[in-house]
Amino acid sequence: MTGFTTTILHNDRQSEIEHGSIHKPIHSAVTFGYADARELADVFQGKKAGYRYGRQGNPTVTALEDKITKMENGVASLCFSSGMAAIGAIPLGLLKNGDHIVSSAFLFGNTSNLWQTITSLGVSTSFVDATNVANVEAALTPNTRIVFVETIANPRTQVADLKEIGELCQARGILFVVDNTMTSPFLFHPKTVGAGLVINSLTKAISGHGDVLGGCITDTGAYDWNLYPNIAPNIKKQAPAMWGINQLRGKALRDFGACLSPDAAHQIAIGAETMALRVERQCSNALQLTELLAASDKVAAVHYPGLKNHPQHGLSSELFKAHGSIFSFELKPHIDCFDFLNRLNIPISATHLGDNRTLIIPVAHTIFFEMGQERRAAMGISESLVRVSVGIEDSDDLLADFAQALAAF
Ligand SMILES: *Cc1c(COP(=O)(O)O)cnc(C)c1O
Repeated sequence: MTGFTTTILHNDRQSEIEHGSIHKPIHSAVTFGYADARELADVFQGKKAGYRYGRQGNPTVTALEDKITKMENGVASLCFSSGMAAIGAIPLGLLKNGDHIVSSAFLFGNTSNLWQTITSLGVSTSFVDATNVANVEAALTPNTRIVFVETIANPRTQVADLKEIGELCQARGILFVVDNTMTSPFLFHPKTVGAGLVINSLTKAISGHGDVLGGCITDTGAYDWNLYPNIAPNIKKQAPAMWGINQLRGKALRDFGACLSPDAAHQIAIGAETMALRVERQCSNALQLTELLAASDKVAAVHYPGLKNHPQHGLSSELFKAHGSIFSFELKPHIDCFDFLNRLNIPISATHLGDNRTLIIPVAHTIFFEMGQERRAAMGISESLVRVSVGIEDSDDLLADFAQALAAF
């Protein structure tokens, strides 16, 4: 077993590549032909491995899926056109009318909206404070099919009670789904806390350059699919380890069609080669910036799991290789957050996370505006909260820029 980056760099060549190419080429063909017509039928009937039509599988996308499976130490992965398409595949492929989700209340805004959207399709969600397993346990019903959490929540950086929730799900035979986007597979493997499925938005740290969208679901092998009630009879003819991914491939990817393009898969794979280097630098920059802000009398609060006063600092230190590239903060009331942002020279006022460039955004006025003040308050989001996605710039430059902006008020 090689290390994280060595594995990513050399994984494609574990299978033979044309002309000794150092990475998997972009296969743009939508359909795949067979010299023997019987072979085509065997591929369609699942008797033989092979590609048939681009929406259901493509060699360049498979190469990326293999890479992400290795990154997560899982058994299989399935890529989608965006992180939300991957999350949306969970109810489409695995849930039925009458089923129930227990979800962290501290969620990526669009995921939170998605759980509300599917209420009209008969799938209900209980939103709980997932920093304490007792809240998750209290919300379970006989119809609960999945428990869904993020690792570090965006933007307030609450860390879910991952180990305890994993144990609870294991004891009850419930599928535990973890969105690992905020930590990335470099900082954390949700498999170690019993997650059966892991979501990664490939748009963020894994690709890293703000130029491509993608999403992925990885089956870690930790969940026994024999316990899952919604597996279709035709899927049950296959090996149980593949039931989850195969049902997701059929019912969600094939039938709804949100497939990743081969060009995007290639771009993401190239970005992934440097993920560990980028994330290490981002986490180091984030820690230095949050220490600077926490020491300033212009700042009312800083939220970052790397700071000792963060409520889940201990858990974050225990589970994650570093504390992530996202933090949020509140300025003292006399400082208008828009004036402060406009004073900064390096960070770009923009949404998005995990980019090479430092991005900064006032949360209540933008990404969480649609939610309204009441729901924001329930998620711990104050009206003046500012989120920072820390990039890989030279730390001295970032520190000097924040220091000059603070000094201006
Ligand atoms: C960005 C993000 C998503 C959605 O990913 P897209 O690729 O933008 O669709 C899901 N979960 C988390 C935690 C995210 O940060």
